[in-house]
Amino acid sequence: MTLEERIREVNTRIEEACLRSGRSREDVNVIAVTKYVSTSMTERVLDSGLTHIGENRWQNAEEKWNALGSRGTWHFIGHLQTNKVKDVAGKFEYIHSLDRLSLAKELEKVASARNLEIKTFVQVNISGEDTKYGLEPEQAVPFLKELHQFPHIKVAGLMTMAPFEGEAEDTRPVFRGLRELRDDINRHAITREPLIDLSMGMSNDFEVAIEEGATWIRLGSILVGKQEGE
Ligand SMILES: *Cc1c(COP(=O)(O)O)cnc(C)c1O
Repeated sequence: MTLEERIREVNTRIEEACLRSGRSREDVNVIAVTKYVSTSMTERVLDSGLTHIGENRWQNAEEKWNALGSRGTWHFIGHLQTNKVKDVAGKFEYIHSLDRLSLAKELEKVASARNLEIKTFVQVNISGEDTKYGLEPEQAVPFLKELHQFPHIKVAGLMTMAPFEGEAEDTRPVFRGLRELRDDINRHAITREPLIDLSMGMSNDFEVAIEEGATWIRLGSILVGKQEGE
């Protein structure tokens, strides 16, 4: 399949998931994850009209960002080492992996020095898998309260990664858990403004994530492909 065919097919599946769950298509944003592909393929992705680009390591993203950074909105979706904050702050509009105070402190320091606002997702480990990064669900509220002291960090919402399952349906409790956590946080007015965004769902489970309320889905292999020329 060509890139254009993949985009069309994914779009159809997104629309159907929205219909099934009574959601509006405009509320679901697609991040094209380009971590598997080259700069020229990333350029084709932007040419095709997709505007949100996701990368999970600065080392892999640097060349692409230097060539194409002004053309899209860039999302840092992987684990962020504190010593990489100076590289990504201001280049990536969204950081999807805010999961510890030391990272928040460094983001605040760099953002304040450069007079930036950094949009973030607080990453929560809903599944309890110990290989994944992210806060325990019980830590989310105290962590969000701590973030009040950082005026240059804006929290857009919550992010999670579901464990890879053979059946997409098996991921549903994880996505539902993130949505319920967000609703709970909003009921108790923990953040300055209500949290809206949920970053959840990847190639193998994005339809279930949409049914459970995802507003940002992060699609690599199914959309961009895994190799050059695919
Ligand atoms: C790689 C990656 C994705 C995309 O993965 P696919 O399964 O190829 O869609 C999404 N989110 C994160 C955090 C990733 O690292």
